[in-house]
Amino acid sequence: RAKSEGSPTPCFYDAPLDQIIRDRRELANDLRRAIDENRLEVHYQVQASIATQEVTGYEALLRWTHPERGPISPSVFIPIAEENGLILPLGEWVMRRACTDAVGWENDLKVAVNVSPVQLAHADLPRLFHQIMLDTGLPPRRLEIELTETAIMADRAHALHVLRQIKALGVGVALDDFGTGYSSLETLRAFPFDKIKLDRLFVSELDGSPETIAIIRAVLALGKSLSIPVLAEGIETDLQLDVLRREGCDEAQGFLLGYPQPVSAAGPSPFIEGSDGKPLPGRNDLSN
Ligand code: C2E
Ligand code: MG
Ligand code: MG
Ligand code: MG
Repeated sequence: RAKSEGSPTPCFYDAPLDQIIRDRRELANDLRRAIDENRLEVHYQVQASIATQEVTGYEALLRWTHPERGPISPSVFIPIAEENGLILPLGEWVMRRACTDAVGWENDLKVAVNVSPVQLAHADLPRLFHQIMLDTGLPPRRLEIELTETAIMADRAHALHVLRQIKALGVGVALDDFGTGYSSLETLRAFPFDKIKLDRLFVSELDGSPETIAIIRAVLALGKSLSIPVLAEGIETDLQLDVLRREGCDEAQGFLLGYPQPVSAAGPSPFIEGSDGKPLPGRNDLSN
């Protein structure tokens, strides 16, 4: 490779930036191959009612183990897939996998699947979901999609139109990472959400911070007055769960209840098995 001979203005950032771009392109290619070769996995993390301690469903979370680099976080590879359009086949694959797995679960448990803003904007989701329900036999009321505010922001009119069609199928819609977007109240007013997922940022700061408790109270009051149940994400300690229970939070999810696990069958109630604060057995996901 020709080396620059006395390049007049050597740029400090050239090499690393070049490296980053090459790295991403390589990862994108590897991801494409992993999808083709069916080497991605879906893990499931339990969601439960705080009051009754019953499991209500599981969130599907993508897992990719790179042949050389090991496990790669979805917060790294999802943005890459969104950049180059791979998220469309990938999102469809996850949805099919999750619905296929969930059909076998007992007690009408729900499966929650994350949907990217790019899918909402560029895929015909109502038609796709309808087709997947037909193909897998999963009743639509057992599927819930999780959207962040980012998904809605780009084109609110289009998002509302699509969400209404998705809801008309009988599929539920949850607002993910609530509290970290910048127009949460307007979003709640205008969009027909079935669940609010309080971002784990608030839960992690719960221990003893009066401001955080005040914010959580306000969100729970908002949920109550809009008749939208609130799920708290990222619960890791008994103390956090106790506070949320006391404040009247509806549902819980987090490492305290269970790590994402490669199970397709419904597990036992996490409060019975894991009430000592230990995660459920069989976990192999400690990457977070
Ligand atoms: P998310 O949808 O908000 O998912 C929750 C994330 O928090 C997951 O990270 C989960 O493993 C992690 N988590 C759960 N409980 C705890 C806890 O108690 N403590 C801590 N520290 N973390 C906890 P994960 O699996 O790495 O996924 C990260 C993000 O990647 C997800 O955030 C979601 O935005 C995205 N993602 C994952 N799977 C998919 C997918 O299939 N499609 C799309 N479009 N995005 C996905
Ligand atoms: Mg989610
Ligand atoms: Mg979330
Ligand atoms: Mg998130």
